[in-house]
Amino acid sequence: MLFYNMGMDQAFPSTISPPKLEKSAASSRSLRMPSGLPAFQVLCDFDGTITKTDATLAILEAFALPEFREWERRWERGEITSRECMARQVELIQADLSTLMRFAADLPIDEGIVTLSQRCAQYGIPLIIVSDGVDRFIEAVLRRHGLSYIPVISNRLACDGNGSLSLGSPYASPDCLVGAGTCKCAVASFFGLSLKETMYIGDGRSDRCISTMAQKVYAKAGLREWCDLQGIACEPFETLTEVTERLFQGVGCFA
Ligand SMILES: [Mg+2]
Ligand SMILES: [Zn+2]
Repeated sequence: MLFYNMGMDQAFPSTISPPKLEKSAASSRSLRMPSGLPAFQVLCDFDGTITKTDATLAILEAFALPEFREWERRWERGEITSRECMARQVELIQADLSTLMRFAADLPIDEGIVTLSQRCAQYGIPLIIVSDGVDRFIEAVLRRHGLSYIPVISNRLACDGNGSLSLGSPYASPDCLVGAGTCKCAVASFFGLSLKETMYIGDGRSDRCISTMAQKVYAKAGLREWCDLQGIACEPFETLTEVTERLFQGVGCFA
């Protein structure tokens, strides 16, 4: 399936245009989907949802100059957006890219992502990671676990000739509710993904905007608390294995 072979370096949006997504899901569905399973796609957060901790924060703590904490505090006080915060923090990292990627690859993950991605592929359901984290760190984690076929939409780390790092946010939106570098609800509409047919899985602040619009939200930690406060319906979860079981209830091995 073309969609799942998409590499991280391939340019959006041409390779992930909505017609391809829908066609891919539809053709697989007609072959393999049991009747009764609704057509949908799964969008999944990365940091804290696929990894057990926030990869960007772990890297900052290990490799950035201590000033990165001051930017964090300014963000917590609402003085700057998370997009600006991350851009400033990344510039304080004092290590080369290969060191960072080796470090990221060792971060612990929720192993349930493996089964989730296998089930989605098996039933032709698009699974896309949408992250306000950093593409190269995500890439390192996915590669370590044999998951590089999962498409990723995220911020992009660039390294200049002097080894200085900078962060680009090609999927930011000026209207983002949380000032994220990757505005997840804007991403969905940019790629023509119907949020009425989107199952969203997340845990944090950058997941808020899309959680107000997705068909169903699987939420843990801070996102769950926020959804409860806002009166947004969500399904609480702790592991991706649980989410997979519930998504595929009554189907195949989860019957
Ligand atoms: Mg998260
Ligand atoms: Zn947003």
